Amino acid sequence: MPTGAAHFSGSCLCRSCVYQIDGGIEPAGVCHCEDCRKVTGGPFGVSFRVPKDRFHITGRTASYSKPADSGTVLTRHFCPVCGSPLYTESGAHADAVYVKAGTLDQPEAITIERQAWLASAVAWAAIPPGVATYQKGRI
Ligand SMILES: [Zn+2]
Ligand SMILES: [Zn+2]
Repeated sequence: MPTGAAHFSGSCLCRSCVYQIDGGIEPAGVCHCEDCRKVTGGPFGVSFRVPKDRFHITGRTASYSKPADSGTVLTRHFCPVCGSPLYTESGAHADAVYVKAGTLDQPEAITIERQAWLASAVAWAAIPPGVATYQKGRI
């Protein structure tokens, strides 16, 4: 079920690619598969579905297609200037795109509804309690 504000927007890091979403956004899913780890550079991917007719992107994206474990070909779109992953198209769901949640300009609007590929999850998918913590800077 879409929730939140009527319009959302997002971009890559360098803002060469900017998108608008008409209407609300659906809850997001976490994916712990190796492909999501590779493509995000993080422990897992987080993305949410948007019907194609409500997703409008400006700026040229580059793309890379690879079959998923299911055999379905996924085409991942990213910014050719800064490399940020932006969204994925699935051969099994031609009417929608799956937007990388971290690219949203309103990231607090994201809610997590499910997680997949827990069998491949890494231990560092959860931040260990007690690690050194800073409100800003220092990684
Ligand atoms: Zn960019
Ligand atoms: Zn995945």
